Amino acid sequence: MIEFQKAYEIVIGTKLNIGTEKVALNNSLGRVLAQDVFSDIDMPPFNKSAMDGFACRSIDLFNELEIIEIIPAGKIPQKEIGENQCSKIMTGAPLPVGADTIFIVEDSKEIGENRVIYTKPKSEIDTCNIEAGNDAKANISFKGEDIKIGDVVLQKGTLLKPQHIAVLASVGCINPEVSKLPKVGVIATGSELVEPNIKPKDSQIRNSNGSQMIAQLAAININANYYGIAVDDEKITQEIFDKAVSENDIIMLSGGVSEGDFDFVPKILKNAGFDIKFDRIAVQPGKPTTFAMSQNKICFGMPGNPVSSFVLFELLLKPLIYKLAGSDYKNQRIILALGIDFNRSRANRLAFIPVTISENGEVFPVEYHGSAHINGLTVADGLFEIPIGVTNMKKGEKVNVRQI
Ligand code: AMP
Ligand code: MG
Repeated sequence: MIEFQKAYEIVIGTKLNIGTEKVALNNSLGRVLAQDVFSDIDMPPFNKSAMDGFACRSIDLFNELEIIEIIPAGKIPQKEIGENQCSKIMTGAPLPVGADTIFIVEDSKEIGENRVIYTKPKSEIDTCNIEAGNDAKANISFKGEDIKIGDVVLQKGTLLKPQHIAVLASVGCINPEVSKLPKVGVIATGSELVEPNIKPKDSQIRNSNGSQMIAQLAAININANYYGIAVDDEKITQEIFDKAVSENDIIMLSGGVSEGDFDFVPKILKNAGFDIKFDRIAVQPGKPTTFAMSQNKICFGMPGNPVSSFVLFELLLKPLIYKLAGSDYKNQRIILALGIDFNRSRANRLAFIPVTISENGEVFPVEYHGSAHINGLTVADGLFEIPIGVTNMKKGEKVNVRQI
């Protein structure tokens, strides 16, 4: 049995050559960039009004002004601003030549045809700034102030979220190069399992892990190849496994990795030429997690109990899949205070306990009967960590919580 951190390092250190591909911008969400992305333009591309208002010379700000033009967004101003003149300007429109300031509509009063005054009392204005021509410049976004042409806007390894997609769009990167997704095969083992469309008879249970694993993969963009249920028969399981190996980069099995008479998975892995890197982790839930490699193939033997399978996917397999793509994704960890005292009888494993987080940021364990109790997870906001050797924790003590 190895400690969780050691298992994590083994898993995360695994290499697999998956290559890169170009995808359409609008299909790139959740993918990992395989290239630095540069800007082909300045942003903003021109001096731009940040507000609806009037553009004029700052030295004329307190004079009555003549409105010489209305400038909508998307139009080039036709007139140059001269002494005691202004143009009415809309948010996003280019600043006209001659103007160096914009005062906003809310601080203006139109006083007859094409005449306007600035209404903000002088006392409210930082006159030093006005004299230096700075105050109303707050309403101008200057060309290139966000990004300059040629700047790297996103780095290789970036996990693309909606805000990154906006940046790609703004620099015209319509086919970003991203890491390919590994092909992942999913197999559920166990003679007691029936698929979810079947009502279990005595001694049977529904295969929830198959759908859970497929969904966990789908949540990170991977469309799993599902091989169904392998009954607890060595030959049958071997055939299904070998087929999955030939068709995938990563194979996820659930169940069959414990000490029972019908837990054939370790044997099957060895028969297929896999080298088992570890088969027990000092973690709760998830002790019998097995990790094995053969040439350019990875196998995860997930524990059969659904909570264990869920947690170990989140803690080990998900970071690995991102790492293979070149991202240094880590589980989001936050430090919060326990809302009640917490005790456990044995402390020989690192434990992850499903918890809710209250509005004031306190952590409360959910009702949880152990690693088969998948319903316990559905109300949890996260998992809190109890280190090896710790049995009692007091209300108010700070704990690490991983959000799920
Ligand atoms: P095993 O690891 O095969 O010994 O299974 C441990 C426990 O998890 C047993 O109670 C199994 O019935 C249960 N289990 C195994 N596979 C699944 C699955 N695919 N869906 C739901 N429960 C499972
Ligand atoms: Mg089993």
